[in-house]
Amino acid sequence: MGGSIRLVKVLGIDIRIHYSWLLIFGVVSYWVYTDFRAAEYSQELSALLAVGASAALFLCILAHELAHSVVAVRSGIPVRSITLFVLGGVASISREAERPGTEVLMALAGPACSLAIGLACGAAWFATGGNDGEVSAYRDLLFWVASLNVMLGGFNLLPGFPMDGGRVLRAAIWRITGDYRRATRIASVVGQALGWLIAGAGAGVVIAYLFIGSGPLDAYNGLWFILMGLYLSSIASSSYRQVVLREAMRGITAASAMASDFMTVPPGMSLLQIVRDYVEPNRYRSFVVATDGRFQGVVNVENIRRVPDSRWGVTTAGSVMTPAGSVVTATPEDDGLGLAAKMDQFRLDGIPVVREGTVVGVVTRGSLARAVQMRARSEE
Ligand SMILES: [Zn+2]
Repeated sequence: MGGSIRLVKVLGIDIRIHYSWLLIFGVVSYWVYTDFRAAEYSQELSALLAVGASAALFLCILAHELAHSVVAVRSGIPVRSITLFVLGGVASISREAERPGTEVLMALAGPACSLAIGLACGAAWFATGGNDGEVSAYRDLLFWVASLNVMLGGFNLLPGFPMDGGRVLRAAIWRITGDYRRATRIASVVGQALGWLIAGAGAGVVIAYLFIGSGPLDAYNGLWFILMGLYLSSIASSSYRQVVLREAMRGITAASAMASDFMTVPPGMSLLQIVRDYVEPNRYRSFVVATDGRFQGVVNVENIRRVPDSRWGVTTAGSVMTPAGSVVTATPEDDGLGLAAKMDQFRLDGIPVVREGTVVGVVTRGSLARAVQMRARSEE
């Protein structure tokens, strides 16, 4: 996720916060502060509790995501980072579970962790006197953290993909039908329906508030429900599209995704000629260097720019190219998922496809995207 900063590393996982999180920190602090002020606590104590509550929210969401991550890592699925943003947390789990059982364990770990924290805090609240009518700010905070975690756990168990409950539903359908894609589609349709239901309920609350002047909840809660519901239905459909794309990528090969109209230049060609004949008229940015079809290396606009233009006439492609041994290449059989991963890992726009020392094509981000789209469409 862009626009985030790294805080710490826990169990080898980067913990990051997105800037939108600061908004939540502000809103929650303000909200808790006014609540505690209304309960007649002093300004200082209310401020302290407000910051405490925001910090607790942060730690509780983090604990929830860490629980998912620990099970993922234990199941051999690496987790790169956890990012907290305005609507919760996301763990960047490198791939999906291979078996329904693993998916269920991974999905349930988060809500189980939240409910456990909620129960523990609730028990502590009860043990320290609970609701005995005596005023205690710290007990109020304990109660706040307990209900927060119960809500966090409960909400995530809603059976719509990609929420945790939806993942459990998907795993169950996947187990029964053996069809991963169909299971994902059904669970994501349930997710979209749930999102619309929640948004509709929120709209009902707002309308009741506007026309009758009262309702079971206030208008702000209604607005929050609408936002949450719309967000849920949009991630449900986009997560499904992502799954379809990944499946489609797995099903295509470099041979079917490559463009074969790449430009080849001999190693002896001068940079001046490359710029004058290819870069300027056709805006090509990258060239395969080959002698009699044999792959020698790659020269691109960045290589050329490093040479002062007064020397372009006497400098050859072969002397500035990245030699074949250092170029990231693919074989015609490599699958689309692997190609995309390579492009991301090495920040490449294109990968030459080499068969027995000869470049037979180049896979670019554009050609890969077109092949994947065609495949995804033909499967729909
Ligand atoms: Zn979760």
